[in-house]
Amino acid sequence: MRDTWPLLANIAFPSLRRGRLNTLKVNLGYRCNQSRVHCHVNAGPSRTKAMDGATVDLVLEVLKRRQIPTLDITGGAPELNPRFRRLVRSARRLGVRVMDRCNLRVLEQPGQEDLPQFLAGERVEIVASLPCCLEDNVDRQRGRAVFDGSIRALRALNALGYGGTGLILNLVYNPRGPSLPPGQVELERDYKRELGERYGIVFNRLFTLANMPIQRFGAIRLARGRFDAYLALLRNTPMDRNLEGVMCRNLISADYHGFVYDCDFNQMLDLPLTRAEGRRVHLSKLMDEDIVDNSINVAGHGFGCTAGQGSSCGGAFKPAVES
Ligand code: SF4
Repeated sequence: MRDTWPLLANIAFPSLRRGRLNTLKVNLGYRCNQSRVHCHVNAGPSRTKAMDGATVDLVLEVLKRRQIPTLDITGGAPELNPRFRRLVRSARRLGVRVMDRCNLRVLEQPGQEDLPQFLAGERVEIVASLPCCLEDNVDRQRGRAVFDGSIRALRALNALGYGGTGLILNLVYNPRGPSLPPGQVELERDYKRELGERYGIVFNRLFTLANMPIQRFGAIRLARGRFDAYLALLRNTPMDRNLEGVMCRNLISADYHGFVYDCDFNQMLDLPLTRAEGRRVHLSKLMDEDIVDNSINVAGHGFGCTAGQGSSCGGAFKPAVES
């Protein structure tokens, strides 16, 4: 797999500075029950790297000490880390809003049979990837029977009250190929209609995200000689429109060792959040050190965040604006 970083590093992106920290995103490790081309962390069943107990304790301490209101948990499949439930329970006890980036199929993995009840009991917000509301398209992108499994999982979550007014269930769409996502408002309407009419499924919001030109997705564009064309597509949006909404202004992303990055894309590129003299930052330093106004490490992949309607962990910035 060819690395796209040498190309991205040479592309200028406007300088950015951090604002107030409101979200700590943590990667619990790369183990996952599935392996797919759009995964920007190259997770898979054979990967074993996982956050240990001491680092989980540190995450909880940072949440408490810095009074960060939101914990966003990702992986791999974060639920497969044996410390996932302790982290969730303890964070909820601190009054922190917890989001779980869930691939849905993990809810059917052996040993995870009670996971939906656990998530509901802790009132965890679920953010689940479902690349299309039509069966054939999902199976083509994710492999046979993924759609059926996802539908079963969504029904199980709905049965517990997810997707209504109580427990939050949001879905994520990203394009299959090198195109920008369609309008978030319109696509959410289509998803709600199709999933509701065909399968009786309800959910709260649909987040549309552009594919980042990194990892497997970027490598495929490179291998096909289409990397520059994809970059040009991402850059074809007036910059000032979406620059304010990029998630790195208010979020930090921690890896399974506890080292900190401006976002999880930077984490995958091993582009750390740095302080004076290029010193990289560990969670343990955030007990006392404030990073407001710190310079954000940017390069060409940032255009993946500003393209079209803009993309962040919470979907498009201004869904009502035409892209
Ligand atoms: S890639 Fe990361 S650092 Fe760059 S603009 Fe997007 S969120 Fe910010």
